[in-house]
Amino acid sequence: MNEVLAIVVPCYNEEEVLPDSISKLRSVLGDLRKSCGISKDSFILLVDDGSRDRTWEIIKENHDSSSDVWGQKLSRNCGHQSALLSGLMTARERADISISIDADLQDDIGVIKDMVDKYHEGCEIVYGIRGSRKKDSFFKRNTAQGYYKLLSSMGVKTVYNHADFRLMSKKALDELALYQESNLYLRGLIPLLGLKTGEVVYERGIRQAGESKYPLKKMLALAINGITSFSTEPIKMVLKTGVIALFICLAAAVYAFVSYISGNVEKGWTSLILSIWFLGGVQLIAIGVIGEYVGRIYSEVKHRPLYHVEELLDKQNVGGN
Ligand code: UDP
Ligand code: MG
Repeated sequence: MNEVLAIVVPCYNEEEVLPDSISKLRSVLGDLRKSCGISKDSFILLVDDGSRDRTWEIIKENHDSSSDVWGQKLSRNCGHQSALLSGLMTARERADISISIDADLQDDIGVIKDMVDKYHEGCEIVYGIRGSRKKDSFFKRNTAQGYYKLLSSMGVKTVYNHADFRLMSKKALDELALYQESNLYLRGLIPLLGLKTGEVVYERGIRQAGESKYPLKKMLALAINGITSFSTEPIKMVLKTGVIALFICLAAAVYAFVSYISGNVEKGWTSLILSIWFLGGVQLIAIGVIGEYVGRIYSEVKHRPLYHVEELLDKQNVGGN
């Protein structure tokens, strides 16, 4: 009891939803102080991921007027996963428990109390699970669920229908800090910690205002990261395809030989051109898949920092800056 809780919120161009989200999260903190006995020093940490709108001004205004609103400004847009990690690493130093949630509050803040209760029952990590995605678009719902299935078929251990709405204890964050990956996919890393976990199920709502900050391009980049950071199955598939192609080639050779012996030589222009293009395509895809992995090895080897914190507005600095 009396633990310090940090609610970590990555924000990228969120001026439309932020004022409302901050007031809702502050009221959740207020309730938790009363009902779960969390410390009065608990805070909301808003990470500005290089926004180009008024996001940082809004964070500053709220920080000036309320001591439980903290801000962390990254020097440029580093992407959701890196922004979230930067906030979690600050929370690791300043709090006993962290809860990460998106700025648009599509995830149900009503279950935050259940998460804290599970923590008190001994869980180091509590996953928010989307029980239903009725309010997601048809496209998003189906691509997301298909993707989770694809990941598990490749042997990647992820939690089905869980995104980045989760509680992590300081111990879990300490363990997470041991991972030094450049190609970050937090949802894949956290199950690897192996700590005691719990789950709370909720219904995902719609974005209150503004538009999604995850366009198809960013979604695809995250999805590819999820696969290539945790599974070498695609490279194995390339090898398997090559072996199958060789067998087909062998069968074709046998067929051609038999035709030749029996005197029915075929004038196979179409089959020739098709197979050249088919194999050419397979080879280019294969090189592309291997290229993805080589590219990732390249960025891991350089080991560049994932983010730079330009400014931190925390409790000690109230009134400053
Ligand atoms: N976000 C971020 N950096 C980015 C893109 C998104 O910090 O480059 C944040 C965004 O502000 C939000 C969260 O990531 O808090 C999830 O984005 P969004 O709600 O737009 O994604 P969706 O729910 O559409 O998948
Ligand atoms: Mg959203």
